Amino acid sequence: MKNINPIFFVDLTKHFGMIKKYTLIGIFILSSLCGFTQKTKEPKVILITMDGLRWQELFTGADKNLITNHKYVEDTLSLKDSYWRDSPKERRVALMPFVWGTLVKNGQIHGNRDLESKMNLTNTHRFSYPGYNEILSGRADDGRINSNDKIPNPNKTILEIINTNKKYIGEVAAFGSWDVFPFIINEERSKIPVNAGFELAKGNDLTPNEIFLNKIQNETPSPWSTVRLDVFTHNYALEYMKKSHPKLVYIAYGETDDFAHNGNYQAYLKSANNTDSFIKEIWNFIENDDFYKGQTTLIITTDHGRGTKPIDTWKSHGSSIIDCDQVWIMTLGKSIESKGEISSQEQIYSNQIAATIAKLLGVDVRKLEMGSAFDFVK
Ligand SMILES: [Zn+2]
Repeated sequence: MKNINPIFFVDLTKHFGMIKKYTLIGIFILSSLCGFTQKTKEPKVILITMDGLRWQELFTGADKNLITNHKYVEDTLSLKDSYWRDSPKERRVALMPFVWGTLVKNGQIHGNRDLESKMNLTNTHRFSYPGYNEILSGRADDGRINSNDKIPNPNKTILEIINTNKKYIGEVAAFGSWDVFPFIINEERSKIPVNAGFELAKGNDLTPNEIFLNKIQNETPSPWSTVRLDVFTHNYALEYMKKSHPKLVYIAYGETDDFAHNGNYQAYLKSANNTDSFIKEIWNFIENDDFYKGQTTLIITTDHGRGTKPIDTWKSHGSSIIDCDQVWIMTLGKSIESKGEISSQEQIYSNQIAATIAKLLGVDVRKLEMGSAFDFVK
């Protein structure tokens, strides 16, 4: 010990102190990073619905009996130029290029009945509130949900179940074009923020885009009194995702159904095409956002089909219209194998969507009365 220079000893202690200090800082930074990585690796789900888009248009594009029909199309030449092609496969690409490009390459599309892939509603009403109730709560409730009236949903939706799970409190948000969604989701009981109908973005932290959307939504005449144009629903949702990063988002586009009820096939097709570009924009955002990238599953479906025979019934749907319980689903993202368009025999149902969302988010709903999760979602 006598050989130890006391000065050296003091210096060494000092260095140890510094090493210890920097090691601690290093551990702190590392653990924060790990914490962040872990947090952002939590699964996220974006559920999208397109109201009343038929599987016939999704899988075969524009209908030859309607696209040249002057009863339903004002400018048949320009509509044919946009969406008519010789084969159904070319027509569907022209109508929904993102779905039949990126999505089909990387995800799955179910419901092409020409290929024996079948998806149906289980509710017998075949209109919107019963359809959305089935999708969101995981079961038909034909007795109580039998109108589109603004009645607070007695059933808990998967949005509410997730929002009351301690892992996801305050991490759920919904946006809809139709003003009945605050009731379908039971905004009051579920405490889920629902921006629907002609509601504006609210809060003290509005972004410049939200302020601008509020301004132009007020300035834009809507063709309908209960449904706003989807451009507002879409941009409110996207802006909220950028700002608040919810883990479960529901976006309900509505135009396709309302233009169809109006008998406007031109606007119905244009809306389907426009929604395709909205979905593309959402996917591109997800793929470039650290919070969502590689951790998010997109589920896209519809609340009901529409009539086919006689041809005029394309405008409508309901218990008296044949085949409008025929629906479809598309999935893309985390946990989804790239199987493309499903061409094997299957029968799936809309009441399976809620449990699938729960499965993706790691929430156990097996004790609840709802359709079982799709086995194609891992
Ligand atoms: Zn409708």
